[in-house]
Amino acid sequence: KFITIEGCDGSGKTTQINLLENKLKELRVSCMFTREPGGTLISEKIRNIILDNKNSEMVWKAEALLYAASRAQLVGEKIIPLLEQNVNVICDRYIDSTLAYQGYGRGLDKIELDKLNYFATSGLKPHLTILLDIEPSEAARRRKTRKEDRLEQEKLGFHQRVREGYLHLVKLEPTRFKVISALQTKEEIHQQILENILNLIND
Ligand code: C5P
Ligand code: MG
Repeated sequence: KFITIEGCDGSGKTTQINLLENKLKELRVSCMFTREPGGTLISEKIRNIILDNKNSEMVWKAEALLYAASRAQLVGEKIIPLLEQNVNVICDRYIDSTLAYQGYGRGLDKIELDKLNYFATSGLKPHLTILLDIEPSEAARRRKTRKEDRLEQEKLGFHQRVREGYLHLVKLEPTRFKVISALQTKEEIHQQILENILNLIND
C-alpha cells in the first residue's frame, strides 16, 4: 500500500513520522519510509537546489517544476518498484503538497498543477493520505523562539491559504484522506495515525 502524510509547517509531521517509523519497526510491519522533496540521490540533489534558494528569487513555476522533478525520480526509481514488490511505502509529502503550497499558497493554476502531478507520477495516487491539520496561527503560537514566531507571522496569510487548500482537497477526495487534528497530544495523534495505517495495511 502507498500512504502519504501531509500537513502545514508546524503541524508536527516530522515528530509523528519519527514516532510512526519506530512503532512500525517494533511491530515488524514491513514498510519503507521516504520523503519529498528527496528520497533518492537525484531527488535529494533537487531538494538541495530548492532549499538553497528558499529565500531568493526562484520563480514559482521553476520551484513547482523542481518539486515535480524530484517526485518523478522518487516515483520511478523507488516508489513504483517497491509497490510492485508488495512493500508498503509511507511518504512524507506528495502531490497534495504541490496543490496546497504552489496552488492554493502561491496561486499557480491548480488544473495545470494537477496535470504536472499526473505527468510526474504517471497518475500514481496514494491509497491513504493522512492530513495533520492545524490552524497556522495556532501552529505559530506553539513555536518556541521569537525569531521563528516573527517569520511565521510574516507568512501567516500564505500558510492559511495552504491550510484551506488542504481542507479543500479533502472535500474533493474524502475517501482518500484521513484528517487528524494536530491540536491533540502527541500520543493521541500517534495512536490515530497508527490505527489508520494498520487498518489499511492489514485489510
Ligand atoms: O516537509 P517539511 O515541513 O520539512 O517541508 C519543508 C519546507 O518546504 C516547508 O517549509 C514547506 O513549507 C515547503 N514546501 C513547499 N512546497 C511544497 C512542499 C514543501 O513550499 N510542495
Ligand atoms: Mg517538518
